[in-house]
Amino acid sequence: MERAQPLTNRRLLLKGAALAAVPYGLLPGPQADAQVQAPDQPTAEWQRASPANFTAARRPVEHRVDLVIVHVTQTDWSGTLTVFQNPRKKVSAHYVVRSADGHVAQCVRESDIAWHAGNWDYNTRSIGIEHEGWVDRPAYFTDALYERSAALTAAICARHGIPRDRRHIIGHHEVPGTDHTDPGPHWDWARYIGLVKAA
Ligand SMILES: [Zn+2]
Repeated sequence: MERAQPLTNRRLLLKGAALAAVPYGLLPGPQADAQVQAPDQPTAEWQRASPANFTAARRPVEHRVDLVIVHVTQTDWSGTLTVFQNPRKKVSAHYVVRSADGHVAQCVRESDIAWHAGNWDYNTRSIGIEHEGWVDRPAYFTDALYERSAALTAAICARHGIPRDRRHIIGHHEVPGTDHTDPGPHWDWARYIGLVKAA
């Protein structure tokens, strides 16, 4: 997890100006809003992060997505979701994977920019996946967590045309300027990339 700088809200201003010229009958209603809240990953549970913790965007229109960044939460599953829902925390990730069974929650749309890399450029071009656990407690990296996360990453790569390799599927510790060490020395990269390629 990591905080990041939001951009200025120029888009909202532009949107406001554009909406002023649109007849009310053409504006999306509550039903359209509800559809926007459906997860990109059909098997994921939707657990929306606070809008104060990510940047609304229209990726890949403004920013191409070419990285998946792997994280470890350093807290438990429910603690992670609580942090993402707290508007004062200024942190989020697109997905959280639960240790015990590999269950996946989506917290930020893939078209939006989650604040997880601690580097604005890397945030704009990546999807962030948090894994429940601690870098020094490898028992949290269960078979189910590896398998469900790898299936998720494979689906993300397919949606965005991202190569399934270590240049494009990286750890938080590989983001320039970070002082974070996750996913840490116990994360089995060879196994993970193998599962992503096989998915
Ligand atoms: Zn991290």
